[in-house]
Amino acid sequence: MKLFLESITTRIAVWMIVIASVPLFLIAYTLHYQKKDEITAQHLSNLQVVFNQTIDKIETNLHYQQQLLQNIAAMPRIAEKLQSTNPNQTIQLNPMIEGYVTNVVKQYGYYDFFILSETGVIVYSYKKEDDYGQNIHAVSMKNTALAKAYDQALSTRSSAISPLEYYSHSKRKSSFIATPILMNQKIIGVIAVQLNENHIFDLVKHYNGLGKTGEVVAGVLMPDGKVLAAMPLKYDEDAYKNERVLNAGHNATGMIQAVRGKGGMGEIIDYRGVSSLAVWGYEPILKWGIVVKTDKNEVLETVYKDEKQLIYILIFVILALIGTMFMSAQWITRPINNLIISMRQFRKEGILQLNIAKCKGEICYLSKEFLTMAEEINEHNQSLESKIYQRTNELQLAKKSIENYVAIVNRFVITSSTDLSGNIIYASKAFEEISGYSNTELLGKNHRILRDPQMPNELFENLWKTITSGKDWHGEIRNIAKNGSYYWVDVHISPNFDEQGEMIGYTAIRQNITDKKTIEEISLTDQLTGLYNRRHLDAVLEKNSQIAERYHIPFSVFIIDIDHFKNINDTYGHQVGDYVLQSLSEILKSQCRAVDTLGRWGGEEFLFILPNTKESEAAIAAEKMRKAIELFPMKRIGNKTVSIGVSEYHDNVHETIKRADDALYQAKTQGRNRVCTYRDKSE
Ligand code: GH3
Ligand code: MG
Ligand code: MG
Repeated sequence: MKLFLESITTRIAVWMIVIASVPLFLIAYTLHYQKKDEITAQHLSNLQVVFNQTIDKIETNLHYQQQLLQNIAAMPRIAEKLQSTNPNQTIQLNPMIEGYVTNVVKQYGYYDFFILSETGVIVYSYKKEDDYGQNIHAVSMKNTALAKAYDQALSTRSSAISPLEYYSHSKRKSSFIATPILMNQKIIGVIAVQLNENHIFDLVKHYNGLGKTGEVVAGVLMPDGKVLAAMPLKYDEDAYKNERVLNAGHNATGMIQAVRGKGGMGEIIDYRGVSSLAVWGYEPILKWGIVVKTDKNEVLETVYKDEKQLIYILIFVILALIGTMFMSAQWITRPINNLIISMRQFRKEGILQLNIAKCKGEICYLSKEFLTMAEEINEHNQSLESKIYQRTNELQLAKKSIENYVAIVNRFVITSSTDLSGNIIYASKAFEEISGYSNTELLGKNHRILRDPQMPNELFENLWKTITSGKDWHGEIRNIAKNGSYYWVDVHISPNFDEQGEMIGYTAIRQNITDKKTIEEISLTDQLTGLYNRRHLDAVLEKNSQIAERYHIPFSVFIIDIDHFKNINDTYGHQVGDYVLQSLSEILKSQCRAVDTLGRWGGEEFLFILPNTKESEAAIAAEKMRKAIELFPMKRIGNKTVSIGVSEYHDNVHETIKRADDALYQAKTQGRNRVCTYRDKSE
């Protein structure tokens, strides 16, 4: 349903219907109402004519009757007759008058004809019913219609007509016209005619120019406000007889105004409750309200017919429009739907199927554009696919080479990663090999397990300070393998960061420099004793002299010479001499502080370099050495003694050594197995 409402077809159709039918409807509606008003106005004017004619007819006729009576009243013979007779006695008209009266009664259809005397006695009656001979003032006559007409004629001195009322003496409703008979300006009697109700009705009742449903309605206002039918009605012949109330409910809206003396025209509800067009007014002679009316339906029948036709035409037009619009919208939507299907097929299956051979207009251009675009997309896709294929190949090659590279790195590069606390989270194969630990033994362990306690603490303090501040560290470290052997590595340590830039650990890449270090050590070591050789001692002396010169930090040296060593060689042979040299070296090494440097100065002489040490302090250390050697018994030869010359650095290395040599010489000359300082010598 939603699809239907949202479809272009429906929307166009609805809009076209609205656009086409609303003005059509408005025009038709306006024309229709114009016509309705015109017909209504026309009919009301017709009714007005009929109404005027009716009133005219009543009044003309009654005036004529009055005139006729006045003529009769003016007949001298009647006046003479009245004058000549007793006003309380009936009279006998002469045959000629009698004949005339008979003619008048018959010609005009009067019910009765009366002559009343000046005293009010009915002195002549054509019919001679029981009112004949009675006085109009008598109880039986008083207030009758005849009495009313009589009284009015006397008081106005002219013709008077009484309303239609029940007249008991004739046992019927009658109206009377009375005219005074004058003689010398004096009323000597009254002539009256009794009009039958039909006589009156004939004046009012007619249907000319009122159509099928129209009629003239007459009503009388009763003192209680009811309006009674004054004559038979078209739709109720017995209305008059049955004293039908016309203004029951909301009916007889025109009549209510008419009986109250108000005239008018327009749409009313008649006594039946039917909408009617009417003209109404008051007829003063009969004192009737007169309504001339026609049923509205009849008047507007043609309009209603037109209305119906109009509705049929509108329905037809709307249906025709809907049909046409759906047809035309189909011309729009069909190609659009084809395009949609084709697009969907292209999107889902990549198939391009759209026949545009017969297409025209914008949708055709749209379809062509789509086809071109789809072909371009296909071409683009193909080129992308080949590019992707090419890139994938390249990536695979790159991946392979990276894998190879990683394998090589893993195999040959001693690398490991740790967390921030130094716990190992990765170790390469090469790392496993050099350390002697397997990966399972390494992962999760702290890197500390490889640490050589002989490596200075300052080195590690500096290392951690550098890497925890996010910088790279580079240096040489000696580690201990699982089997307890040493190995030297040249290490680069770099911090690792996560995507947010937070430091998460460290990666170290190492190079095995054990061989280099070994060669270095060999070049600095005396082969026989394992102590530093003369070359290294020279270097250390030079370094210490530089520090002393720059920072004025003192250092001292002492030279140890074995007493009477030559004898050992001579007595026990050169090999034992070598053994003694090695044994003494071990004793000296064990007594040597880490900061001091001990080396073989030459032959059977050893040199101690004591940084940041004054001559007197160095002498104490030398004395400790001397004692240690003196107390150490050696195989076969027993205890040996040494002489030691001590000197603090002054001037230069050469001078310092020379002074130590001089002090040594002094120790020898003073009897050996003693320590002499340069100061001792100079004192
Ligand atoms: P003193 O020093 O008490 O005056 O007497 P000395 O016997 O020790 O005399 P001197 O210092 O002059 O002798 C040094 C001797 O040391 C000479 C040499 O034969 C011996 N010598 C030097 N180098 C070596 C060595 O590498 N091996 C052995 N076995 N002997 C050495
Ligand atoms: Mg010597
Ligand atoms: Mg010696």
